[in-house]
Amino acid sequence: MKDLIVQKYGGSSVGDIEKIQNVAKRIIKTKKSGKNVVVVVSAMGNTTDELIKMAYSISDRPIERELDALLSTGEQISISLLAIAIENMGHEVISLTGAQCGIITSNKHFKARINEINTQRLESELSQGKIVIVAGFQGINKENDITTLGRGGSDTTAVALAAALKAELCQIFTDVEGVYTADPRIVPDAKLISEISYDEILELASLGVKVLHPRAVELAGNHKVPIEVRSSFTENKGTLIKEEVKMEKVLIRGISLDENIGKISVLEVPDKPGIAFKLFSSLAEADIHVDMIVQNVNRQSVNDITFTVALDELQDAIEVAQKFAFEVDAQKVLYDRGVSKLSVVGSGVVANAEVASKFFETLFQLGINIQMISTSEIKISCIIDKDRGKEAMKFMHQKFNM
Ligand code: ADP
Ligand code: ASP
Ligand code: MG
Repeated sequence: MKDLIVQKYGGSSVGDIEKIQNVAKRIIKTKKSGKNVVVVVSAMGNTTDELIKMAYSISDRPIERELDALLSTGEQISISLLAIAIENMGHEVISLTGAQCGIITSNKHFKARINEINTQRLESELSQGKIVIVAGFQGINKENDITTLGRGGSDTTAVALAAALKAELCQIFTDVEGVYTADPRIVPDAKLISEISYDEILELASLGVKVLHPRAVELAGNHKVPIEVRSSFTENKGTLIKEEVKMEKVLIRGISLDENIGKISVLEVPDKPGIAFKLFSSLAEADIHVDMIVQNVNRQSVNDITFTVALDELQDAIEVAQKFAFEVDAQKVLYDRGVSKLSVVGSGVVANAEVASKFFETLFQLGINIQMISTSEIKISCIIDKDRGKEAMKFMHQKFNM
């Protein structure tokens, strides 16, 4: 659709009534500039965390279907309040839940993927000149049950709508000025990146830079949706994400710290073919995404296998690992929530031996023990003690002189 902009406002941008009024004014300004506007909003402030806490205070394993029904209410509060604010300022507006705006997802609760968007309702409301406010992070599956898209999933809703409606731009409004070389709340002298390509931001997002959801970046890259990440509190331009960017060649683009991971070790696994296959295929069957893997060759005929998963999948992964350990007669399963993953990302990582050398030297100077290492063309990551993560990121940023 011509002259269409999709805007997304995150939880901190709609944290209270005053902020909602402020967001309403910004949306109206865009509408008055002659654009059609679709707005995606997240739940207010920490609402999603609070809802999760309530569910887990009742049960260790809340039923997934009901958990999704519960979580989706957070976004429904924001869309209706925002619509009330916009109407009160004299503009035509309608709020829509994921289901009402035709967002059809896979069945998997809590981490559903958007399969299709039936845009008729959206297009009809837009053609009547209305501002359309959509609840982020949710959809419905083929059974008509409410699903959610995984933490931070409102970004994905926004990009998916921008792609489906062929919007000219998707703006992600948040509580920082854009994408920085490291989390600006942890590294105060981190630098704002003015333009970045889909590939580089995808790597950063997948490594835990939470300013954008990785799935949103993937979708944007596939559909060539240009994205602007910027502050909802200022008028500054922020970061532009697109295919081709005019960037000076740099060795390191950014440093990320992922604190949302857990580590599992299966000790004294028999050393024979097919064992790793058995463990990792069971994890895959349980739909658990495994990140880093290390196998230490140990004493005669046994190994230790260690791997990491997202924290919210740790409990399920432990259960799969324990069942596996029992079946293959491994010694035991250990796990650790107190770890984080520190990574440096940039196109110069693998070609320049000095990057790896400096990375390890920095950790050595801080006396930080490295538990696991992995590398690719454009990144080096290691698992370290969570208590030392922020300090390591700050020092690393300084060392690489970013
Ligand atoms: P929202 O509620 O708007 O979705 P999020 O909390 O999901 O906001 O994401 C914004 C946060 O991402 C920032 O407050 C910042 O602390 C964090 N962040 C981590 N790494 C970066 C980075 N490299 N650049 C910008 N922000 C980052
Ligand atoms: N409210 C959801 C969350 O907190 C989705 C989002 O904010 O993007 O994860
Ligand atoms: Mg977010």
